[in-house]
Formats: sequence, C-alpha cells, structure tokens
Amino acid sequence: MTEGKISPWVPEQDPFRLAMLSKLIEECNELAGRAARCISHGLEQVDPDKNRPNADLMADEMADVIACMTMIEVRLGITPDDDRIEKKFEGYKRWHALIPDALVISEETAEAAAREHDREEAAQMGETSPWSDFGPQDTDAAEWRGGRIIVMQVALRAAALRGFR
Ligand SMILES: [Mg+2]
Repeated sequence: MTEGKISPWVPEQDPFRLAMLSKLIEECNELAGRAARCISHGLEQVDPDKNRPNADLMADEMADVIACMTMIEVRLGITPDDDRIEKKFEGYKRWHALIPDALVISEETAEAAAREHDREEAAQMGETSPWSDFGPQDTDAAEWRGGRIIVMQVALRAAALRGFR
C-alpha cells in the first residue's frame, strides 16, 4: 500500500446538493461535447441534426453551465474567487501569445519528420529506406525531399499567419 493520506468514503447525502452537482456534471459534459464537435467540424458548420451552427449550439451549452453555476453560487454559497478568475485570464493571454511560435516548424523538425515518414513507408514495402541515417543516396531523391520540406514549412507558416493576423 502506498504511503500518504487517504480520505474516508463519506458521500454527499443532501438531495438538493446532489441534484445541483449532478446537473452541473451533466451540463459541463454537454458543453464539452459541443466544444469537441466545434473542433471536429468547425464553429460555423451547421449541425445536420439541429439545423443550427455549432457555435450557436455551444453558446446554448455555455448558458446552461452559467445558469447551473449561478444556482450553485446562490443556493450553496460556493463563490468563484475574482482574483483566481483574473489570474486565469492573464494565463490564457500569455498562453495564446505562444501559439504562433509553436506553429512555425523548424527545418530540423521537418527534415526529421520527412525521414521518419520515408522509413515507415519503406518498412511497409519491405525495402530499406534510401533516407536512413546515412542520408540520401541519389541527387533526384534529395531534391524531391528538400522540396517536400519547403512545402510543409510554407503550409504551416501560411496557416499560422491566417489564424493570427
Ligand atoms: Mg445543456
């Protein structure tokens, strides 16, 4: 058995607390599901089952969660701390500022990814890859590989610029 403290099992009994907490879990999961759909299909895409854009449907779920949280705040006196909210906002701003840099792939990373892809492809075909750690073995192939790396870099930089202009 591991060292350290463990909490005894003392489940919540109050029916109003249970009702509010279970609804909070349900609504948070509905919001999470809609956020996942926005990632998979895009904010603007219309959900064929609901005939409304994913962003609108996510706004509905956000409203449900806010209503649920407000009810918990009023009825149970569990109040979010304003300083913590402010710190979260600041953290998100700093985190978002890092995203453009993360999207710019380095030449070494692109080259390593291309080499790995070639190795996997060759392994699937039962051949020895010309892109082993010893490097390319003919000039045409080397040029092709270099061109592919440039295409990858241009595509990634274009994506970064599109999103952050
Ligand atoms: Mg809901």
